[in-house]
Amino acid sequence: MILIPGSTNIIYIICILFHYGMKAENSMKARQPQFLWKIEAECPVCGKKMFIEEYMHNVPIIGRVILSSGECPGCKFTYRDTRMADSRGSQILRYRVKNLDDLGTIVIRASSASINIPELQVSITPGASSQGFITTVEGVLLRVAEVMDFLKKDKDVDKKAWKERMDALKKALEGKLEFTLVIEDPEGVSRIVSNKEERLKMYE
Ligand SMILES: [Zn+2]
Repeated sequence: MILIPGSTNIIYIICILFHYGMKAENSMKARQPQFLWKIEAECPVCGKKMFIEEYMHNVPIIGRVILSSGECPGCKFTYRDTRMADSRGSQILRYRVKNLDDLGTIVIRASSASINIPELQVSITPGASSQGFITTVEGVLLRVAEVMDFLKKDKDVDKKAWKERMDALKKALEGKLEFTLVIEDPEGVSRIVSNKEERLKMYE
């Protein structure tokens, strides 16, 4: 800093503080969620009127993400959704998972997108009350594990086939089984946050 004799010194310091203060405030504004709108919707469980609020978040590395949430006043059903603010057009995303590091890659799955993992016979298709989420590849596998645990209790499920699938899933979670995560995304608002993400047009 250059020191100027006399009272101009104080003015100079104030100017610097003001300048940095403004900068800090501007970057804070960019990071803070921005309220977008409130949407009236019908609860997919009980049919009552509910409101969903949407906020825009500017997330470093990922970009502009819209988070939505709402609770039904009747049955307390909670709605949550996560999607990118900017659509890339209908797309199919593919991501080859080869090791433990790849399991940490961030995934944004929009509510209208389906997830497939051919090697693990996993297929998650969107339903009426389907919700978008932000997670990691590992997080997707853990969701599958939860569903598998639930299926185990079903007496109609072939126990041998179930165990084979569960073993494969465990191997995948340990980074010992290579697999491909495929997201079919008609709205184009899902992402796999990696430069290894392969993107194909959905309709051609
Ligand atoms: Zn409800």
